[in-house]
Amino acid sequence: MGDASLFDLTGQTALVTGASRGIGQEIAVALARAGADVAVTARAAASLGACVAAIEALGRRAVPLALDVRDVAQVTTAVNAAADQLGGLSILVNNAGAEEVMPSLDVTEALWDKILDTNLKGAFFCAQAAAKRMTAGGSIINLCSLTTEVGIPTAVPYGSSKTGLLGMTRALAAEWAALGIRVNAIAPGYFRTAMTEAFYQSDAWQQAMLAKIPMARFGELRDLDGIAVFLAARASGYITGQCFPVDGGFLASI
Ligand code: NDP
Repeated sequence: MGDASLFDLTGQTALVTGASRGIGQEIAVALARAGADVAVTARAAASLGACVAAIEALGRRAVPLALDVRDVAQVTTAVNAAADQLGGLSILVNNAGAEEVMPSLDVTEALWDKILDTNLKGAFFCAQAAAKRMTAGGSIINLCSLTTEVGIPTAVPYGSSKTGLLGMTRALAAEWAALGIRVNAIAPGYFRTAMTEAFYQSDAWQQAMLAKIPMARFGELRDLDGIAVFLAARASGYITGQCFPVDGGFLASI
């Protein structure tokens, strides 16, 4: 096989959770641009219209599905619907996520459960359901975070969930290599999305953060296209259990 096929996802079938906006929508469209047919999920299927239109404009199939990843029964139903309608499943992107910063002395059980159930429990059961359908092997990509490497005050439930997700990435990679399923993670740096918009409202915060990023700019969503396609594709065929920061040099310089 020639090098041209290294990043080609033609014939691949993907499921991307949390694709109604932000990073999930970006990655779903990037996988379609590389040739994959893509099932996309959000809590309300109606919010997936723009993502579906962008995938179909590329000539690929899009399957929109309603899914709250905190509900394991819904996870099973949605993953099986994706695999049934796409004719298989070879790529899962565990992107759906929730974040809320709060002093740890004020964190409630409800907030802890919301963040852990979305970011960690949801990702695990999506992976479990997807692995059962990845009969010819596959690639699972988890959205981790710089909080797996750096302790960020007031983000303790979030950081705990993402650090747990990194542990899950490594353990599943070790366990499922025998099934031909690779499991890796992406750790985005600072990207302006609905999740993080409140921070960007502060010029002082922006200037302080930019001073810590060697490339002196925030991430743009398209900065994540390459790593997502790479981890889904044959190009990364001997890589599993790893987490890839996409952070403009932040981690390297602290
Ligand atoms: P957004 O808030 O813009 O998007 C989050 C997505 O997750 C939405 O599509 C939302 O869909 C979905 N979602 C939230 N809760 C649930 C749920 N219970 N069940 C199903 N879907 C849900 O965030 P980003 O695009 O910024 O983040 C995407 C991922 O990247 C997250 O895992 C986040 O932790 C991670 N990340 C982001 C960074 C950043 O700087 N932005 C940095 C590091 C990591 P809907 O609300 O329509 O259901």
